[in-house]
Amino acid sequence: MESGQVVRFDSLVLHFYTYAGVVEALDGVNLYLKENEVLGVVGETGCGKSVTALALMGIVLPPGKIEGGQILLDYNGKQLNLLNQKQDFMRGIRGHEISMVFQEPRAYLNPVYNVEYQITEVIMVHRKQEFAKRVLDQLNEEYARRKENLLYEADPFLNRILKFNINVYKRMARNPNSRYVRFLSKVPIIRRFGKLLKKEVHKEVIGLLEDMQIADPERVAHMYPHELSGGMAQRMVIAMALACDPKVLICDEPTTNLDVTVQAQILELVSALKQRRKSSILYITHDLGVVAQLCDRVVVMYAGNAIEMADVNKIFAEPIHPYTQALLESIPGPGKPLKSIPGTVPSLINPIPGCRFHDRCRYAMDVCSEMKPQFVEVKKDHFAACFLYYSHDRRS
Ligand code: SF4
Repeated sequence: MESGQVVRFDSLVLHFYTYAGVVEALDGVNLYLKENEVLGVVGETGCGKSVTALALMGIVLPPGKIEGGQILLDYNGKQLNLLNQKQDFMRGIRGHEISMVFQEPRAYLNPVYNVEYQITEVIMVHRKQEFAKRVLDQLNEEYARRKENLLYEADPFLNRILKFNINVYKRMARNPNSRYVRFLSKVPIIRRFGKLLKKEVHKEVIGLLEDMQIADPERVAHMYPHELSGGMAQRMVIAMALACDPKVLICDEPTTNLDVTVQAQILELVSALKQRRKSSILYITHDLGVVAQLCDRVVVMYAGNAIEMADVNKIFAEPIHPYTQALLESIPGPGKPLKSIPGTVPSLINPIPGCRFHDRCRYAMDVCSEMKPQFVEVKKDHFAACFLYYSHDRRS
C-alpha cells in the first residue's frame, strides 16, 4: 500500500451462490482510499457499490462469499489484510476503525430504545476503557484535592467510598471486560458507581448530537426513532457511526429518500465532518450532482468492476472510459436532447465474457468480447479498464 492510502482493494472477487446460479457480483475490484479525502463510488443499481462496502466492513453474509483478492487497511502504521482476520478482531475494527452509515436510517435504528441508549451502546462496546480512564483521572484529582485541603481527616467514610471507586475504575481501565468488573456491574448497590461513567458518556453523546447540528440535543437524546424526522434519523445514524471516531466512514447513499433541502444539509454535514475529524469517507451514490459537490476523487463502477478512477474534476472534464463518457452525456440539461445508454446492464449470472460493457460500447473491438481489460493507470492518478488505452503487448 502506498503512503497516504488508508484502504486498498486489490482484485476483489465476490460471488453469491443462489438457486438461480452464481452471481458474480464483484469481478476483481481495484480501488484505494486516501487519508482525509471523500472518494465517491458511482454506478447504476446492481453494479456492486454497496457490496464493496459490505466487504470492507466484513459483513458479507451467505450465500455471498469472497473468492479472491485482498482488502488492505492501514492499521496503526501496519498493513492488514482484512480478509484474513478472525471475526473477534473484525468486531473491534467495525465501528472503531471503519464505520458505516446505511441507506435506510429507520431500518437501522432500534424502535424500542431512545437515541441516547443507541449511541451509548456503540461507545460502551468500543470505548469503555477510554472513558473509565477519564473517570479515574477525575477521581484521582478529587482524592488529591481532598488531601490537600485537609478534608481527608474530616470525612473518613467519604474517603473510603472514593478509594473504592478509584479501585473499581483502575480495574475497569485495565480491563473493562474482566470478571471482577462484570461481577460488580451485577451487584445493585455497587452498580451505582457506574453512574460516573454514564455521566461521562452522556456528555460525549450530547457533544455528538451538537456536532450533528441538532437543536436542543438534551431533549432529542431522549426521543425514540418514531419521533424523529427523516433528516434527524439520518443524523442519528451518522452520530452512531462517528461515536468511535472511525478512521474510515462509509456512507451508503445516505441522502436517498430525503427531500432536497435535508439532502443539502446532510451533504454539508458530511463535508464539515471530513474537515473537522480528518476522516476518510467512502461515499456511495448514483447521484452525479452529489459527487460533484462533495467528493475529492471518484471511482465509477459497472457490472461488478471498477472501470475508471480519478480526481473529481478530471472525471467530469475529461472522462476517458466510454461508459463514464456515456453516463455524463446522459445527464439531462436545459435545451439538451435527452440521451440514454443503449442496451441494459448485463446479468451477473453467467455474465458476458471480456469487457462487461462491450455490448453497449460504441468503440467496442474484437478483443473486447474476448478478454477482460485490466485496470491500469492511463495518466497520472487516472485509472481506467479499457482496451482503448492498452498497448497491444500489454493485453496478454
Ligand atoms: Fe468499450 Fe472495449 Fe473499452 Fe470495453 S474495453 S469500454 S468494450 S472499448
